[in-house]
Amino acid sequence: MKIGRTLVSAEEIDAKLKEMGAAITRDYEGKDLLLVGILKGAVVVMADLARHIALPLEFDFMAVSSYGASTKSSGVVRILKDLDEEIDGRHVIIVEDIVDTGLTLQYLIKNLQVRNPASLKLAALLIKDGVERLPLEVAYEGFHIGPEFVIGYGLDFDGKYRNLPHVAVVDEV
Ligand code: 5GP
Repeated sequence: MKIGRTLVSAEEIDAKLKEMGAAITRDYEGKDLLLVGILKGAVVVMADLARHIALPLEFDFMAVSSYGASTKSSGVVRILKDLDEEIDGRHVIIVEDIVDTGLTLQYLIKNLQVRNPASLKLAALLIKDGVERLPLEVAYEGFHIGPEFVIGYGLDFDGKYRNLPHVAVVDEV
């Protein structure tokens, strides 16, 4: 495997997160905001996005995995790590690295909605176009990309390359 061409540069990511952070700052002024990052990919986005939000927010994390190897489209998700905090009455933003089919997020939204948050919104750095996706409203979105497999900025290939400062395609060589 080789790191292929850059799809989104580190500078473009930073500029976009600044915009997203400013919008979140405006929308959540005076509210009790909790950012929920989906491990492990969202760690990088969350760390950088949060530093562009000028509010006294809190962090929490969830870890999920698809059930088995061949269930990518089944929508059955296993919770590996649940939230530490109760979200009853709180304003929650789920932070994701990439929205592909939307199955993971659809499950998470359902799972968190029953815990009665005051509000529940989504923020994602990347949205994959050209794939069949469930209808999901991403309130704070970064870049729309094609249906290629990408790595970097939190996204892995076999567990690696999450630390690349930019988003790149994979060259299968
Ligand atoms: P969804 O449930 O929306 O189909 O998938 C979301 C998850 O699939 C993401 O959080 C990410 O972990 C993984 N994923 C989807 N597309 C890509 C991609 O292009 N590259 C990598 N590394 N992971 C991806």
